[in-house]
Amino acid sequence: MSRQYSKLAIIIPCFNEEPVIQSTVETLLSIMDGLILNGKISDTSYIYLIDDGSKDNTWKVIEKLRQIYGDKIKGTKFIRNYGNQKALIAGLLGVREIGCDCVISIDADLQQDENSIEKFIDEFHNGADIVSGIRNNRKTDSLFKKTTAFCFYKLMNILGVKIPPNHSDFRLVSKHGLDILAQYPEEGLFLRGFFHEIGLKTAYVYFDVKPRLIGKSKFNFFSLTSLALNGITAFSIVPLRIIAAVGVITVIGSIMLTLEVLFEKYILHNAPSGWATLVILLAFFGGLQIFCLGIIGEYLGQIFNEVKARPRYIKEIELK
Ligand code: UDP
Ligand code: MG
Repeated sequence: MSRQYSKLAIIIPCFNEEPVIQSTVETLLSIMDGLILNGKISDTSYIYLIDDGSKDNTWKVIEKLRQIYGDKIKGTKFIRNYGNQKALIAGLLGVREIGCDCVISIDADLQQDENSIEKFIDEFHNGADIVSGIRNNRKTDSLFKKTTAFCFYKLMNILGVKIPPNHSDFRLVSKHGLDILAQYPEEGLFLRGFFHEIGLKTAYVYFDVKPRLIGKSKFNFFSLTSLALNGITAFSIVPLRIIAAVGVITVIGSIMLTLEVLFEKYILHNAPSGWATLVILLAFFGGLQIFCLGIIGEYLGQIFNEVKARPRYIKEIELK
């Protein structure tokens, strides 16, 4: 398939974005017009907005935009707020159903540099199935967000999920990538980990982050923590393994302690009566308990992996 004149869908998750959404959509439409003129995308390209259960008039504005710009504007509205990840997934699967050759996700506040969109399309034309936006820096982030983001990416790397730092949800996914996504039924899918893991041809585009002009960040300490925890537990059972390792170490420690106590009691004869039994039992059962927890953890890890029901493999090509 030639990737010229590809049908592009831009998806925008929106949570209480009433003040910004119209200007965002108009900016993106004019960028799309430019790309259509240059023959880079088809004139059937469109924008798909996901209203993530906004409490303000975001959806009303979306309906109004639909009236003005016709079917260049599509979208869906959640019954309640499910969070940015779910909104993104709904957008990706939504445009897959409607039809497109590639999709770009971008934030409603246009903090990500919309002028980079052309670079994403170029990389797609060059054969990339995933184009990931990487932030040049975190200048616009608070110190808190900078530190937590740094720790998060470090921890993910230690746990075996090798996501490049300063990754963002500003990314292009090809139709092929969407078809793979559709095979993952798991609920708590963490997109940044997922698109990194599936192993499609990936390119990177570096972009500058602008400050948010209107409204304020929809993320707070709790939603960020939950995103991070989900990212870790959805992709790694290493924390469960650590429990098992601690159990083994404790058991070895308790055996050594037992030898030492026996030495004190029978060779040096300087232990008060009952002390040895007490210490040995305490150390032994402490170790045994953590070790058993570790075994349970291993099985829990298996169940966890099975319950997610990820596809066992994805065939790239098949001759029949
Ligand atoms: N968002 C969403 N649901 C939420 C929180 C955020 O759809 O529960 C959207 C939000 O409307 C925006 C994007 O996710 O389009 C990124 O949010 P925001 O700009 O507040 O995050 P930040 O830039 O501070 O990371
Ligand atoms: Mg933002």
